Amino acid sequence: MAAEEKAPRLFGTNGVRGVVNTPQMDCRFALRLGMAIGTFMNGTVMIATDARTSNEMLKSSCVAGIMATGCEVLDLGVVPTPAIQYAVRKKGAAGGVMITASHNPPEFNGVKCIDPDGTEMSRRNEETIEFIYHKEAFERAGWESIGRSRPYPTAAEEYVDGILAKVDGAAIRKANLRIAVDCSNGAAAYTTPRLLEKLGVRYVTLNGDPNGAFPGHHSEPTPENTEELVNLVKQGGFDFGVIHDGDADRSIFVDDQGRYMYGDRSLALVAYNRVLDMKGGLVVTTVGSSMCVEDAVKIGGGTVMYTRVGSPVVARAMMETGAVFGGEENGGLIFPEHQYCRDGGMSVAAILEIIAKNGRLSDLLERIPQYSQFKTKTPCPDKKKESVMAKLAATTEGVRVDTTDGVKIFVEDGWVLVRPSGTEPIFRVFTEAKTPERAEALAGLYKKRVNQLIRG
Ligand code: MG
Repeated sequence: MAAEEKAPRLFGTNGVRGVVNTPQMDCRFALRLGMAIGTFMNGTVMIATDARTSNEMLKSSCVAGIMATGCEVLDLGVVPTPAIQYAVRKKGAAGGVMITASHNPPEFNGVKCIDPDGTEMSRRNEETIEFIYHKEAFERAGWESIGRSRPYPTAAEEYVDGILAKVDGAAIRKANLRIAVDCSNGAAAYTTPRLLEKLGVRYVTLNGDPNGAFPGHHSEPTPENTEELVNLVKQGGFDFGVIHDGDADRSIFVDDQGRYMYGDRSLALVAYNRVLDMKGGLVVTTVGSSMCVEDAVKIGGGTVMYTRVGSPVVARAMMETGAVFGGEENGGLIFPEHQYCRDGGMSVAAILEIIAKNGRLSDLLERIPQYSQFKTKTPCPDKKKESVMAKLAATTEGVRVDTTDGVKIFVEDGWVLVRPSGTEPIFRVFTEAKTPERAEALAGLYKKRVNQLIRG
């Protein structure tokens, strides 16, 4: 397939997303996308969903499209995204399809494709599917070779067993831990409680029924959506709390004092322990991560490499460099000995092992340096974005400038990251410094600077 012949884009940074029953995300779309996926994958395709109300409709349509191309379908039911990723690689499937809109509001849904090695599909393969879709170059099987769909009900169990094989279960069991888990009415309900039972960890669940109306709270683990969990942990008697997003590829933690931990801090804590255990090694994260990650890794004896924003980019860089660990600042952690994708369940098991061996979470966090961040944005016409970034990079003097993704400027006590939005005519300005006041001041300063450059 000639991928040079560029077709309009369907897949964004996290698969295809849209509001259900609009032309971008209805059963006709799912059917035709299924035909394109089946044509491309040309083998056994696994499919799974999170817990959204529109899942059955979209899955049925997508499965019909895949079967029409002659592919066999294995239906995993409702499982976390990392569970289907695990199954695809383990069982040697031709690929996977996850119906999920992760942390988006309930009216959204989406389709994410998985490569045979279990990673989020590469952009190159997505482009081929887009090409087939737009050209309607669908494989149409003869009546005698139409595909079938069969249930594959053991994916959750196999995924949990896969995690259990990667942690020191005896140490966790001996520590007699108790935690609070907020499943966010999502796919985690089928795996995290099961994982905890097998590790002998006592637990209390919140929002433990899969429910696409998200009656507890929306499925993004923001501080606002974590209030219920924070209040529960503050009542005492918990070693920590954890909250998953809707498809459970991410985990955000609440320490034993009931304090919400931003994803950078759990990333830093796990990274520190891993480089310490392995006596060094490389940790990969994005340019948007806090300096606390690099500080912690350096103290532990390792080094950090920065990539563009996006978990597939981090995973790919980890594979190429043989990194010992990696992840994003949003609570998506990647454990290479398990699989090269974000994994919410594996993150819970890793934190359990760390505290079982090293003590209370709040004490361990004391060793991780703390910084303040500030986020703002400023409008900019799409056609001016490139030239503004080039000018910003070229006219910044006397400090280190990194153009891996947007323009990141290191000042003496922090950094500023100016990135163009991929979907809106705006620049996002992120800053980090030692105090909240300084972070906000830096953001104001660079927003002004960007505005001057926009005006020319
Ligand atoms: Mg997610």
